[in-house]
Amino acid sequence: MGTRANGALAPGAALAEIETPALVVDHAAMLRNIARMAGHAAAAGVRLRPHAKTHKCAAVARLQVAAGAVGVAVQKTDEAAAMVEGGIGDVLVTNQVIAGPKLARLAALATEARIGLCIDAAEGARAASAAAVAAGSTLDVLVEIEAGQRRCGCPPGAPAAELAALVDALPGLRFEGLQAYHGTAQHIRTPGGRADAIAGAGRAVRETLDALADRRLDARTVGGAGTGTFALEADSGLWNEIQPGSYVFMDADYAANHQPPPFEQALFVLASVISRRPGGHAVLDAGHKTAAIDSGKPRPIDLMAEVGEVSDEHIVLAAADALPLGAPVWLTPGHIDPTVNLHDRLIVVADLDRGAGEGRVEAVWPVEARGACG
Ligand SMILES: *Cc1c(COP(=O)(O)O)cnc(C)c1O
Repeated sequence: MGTRANGALAPGAALAEIETPALVVDHAAMLRNIARMAGHAAAAGVRLRPHAKTHKCAAVARLQVAAGAVGVAVQKTDEAAAMVEGGIGDVLVTNQVIAGPKLARLAALATEARIGLCIDAAEGARAASAAAVAAGSTLDVLVEIEAGQRRCGCPPGAPAAELAALVDALPGLRFEGLQAYHGTAQHIRTPGGRADAIAGAGRAVRETLDALADRRLDARTVGGAGTGTFALEADSGLWNEIQPGSYVFMDADYAANHQPPPFEQALFVLASVISRRPGGHAVLDAGHKTAAIDSGKPRPIDLMAEVGEVSDEHIVLAAADALPLGAPVWLTPGHIDPTVNLHDRLIVVADLDRGAGEGRVEAVWPVEARGACG
């Protein structure tokens, strides 16, 4: 790895020594985001289980847990394995896991750590039960209800309670509670729109809690919420565990939802000018393979320049011809999670002053769960 870009970068290196393109974390801003979210959860009296699909990095997860998080949430079995290997003792897979080999891996992990997963169908419950029995472990189960997103989740109310009763009866499973996550609500632009969406999800939770009570089943956990809506769930009196992920680094999409944004941009794509046309444009050494564009193109900061064409390995900045060759350009990714998934490492910088071009490499963290799609 020492022969790859930034492979030999060591703590103490100057900002100018970072090869581009790179993902640079503003250490202080990230720590402030972690502390701020932990403070919100503590003030609201809810547990915080940050979603690690955002950073896929055990070092970040350990900081979140050290700041009070009960553990982390992940989306994939392989992400769960990376987090357990990285020292996280409590991991919830906020997704359906159906395939036998994946369930076997999860059940094996549950002999080392507390492992939970979401279930929305009886077949999934039976398959998870069989895997846990075979491994001699116990899997915690959140019955996932349809909370407005129309993706995963069984119908709320009586059908969810019926599934919970099955989970409760099956060996190797422990019925822990409900998962009610409204993903599309996170990105609704208006506060009123987000409040309406979470109120609807809350009605689904309430209906299901009532149906559980009819069966004398108790939901110890009601989980959900992301960076766009966490305050609504936390104050609802219904959810008791929030799972925001993006807040730790933020992105341009989330920054557009709140003025001013409640969290700071803490992760940047650092690129360099590799070509320029006097009287025209500048071309950067970053593209689709450096920053995801599903939620919009990366935005240059500290610089008035329009992003033009983005291709695999190039970004054209219009009207940026004043930038000399080699000039560093800082970009905010449109969508943080798929951007991190493109990189092997996060370059963590202390005392970052972008304008002055100053900062010191504090650490280089591997993105252990990068590419963990299984
Ligand atoms: C993605 C996700 C989150 C975190 O959402 P952010 O918008 O990144 O904060 C929380 N819970 C679940 C189930 C998710 O899929």
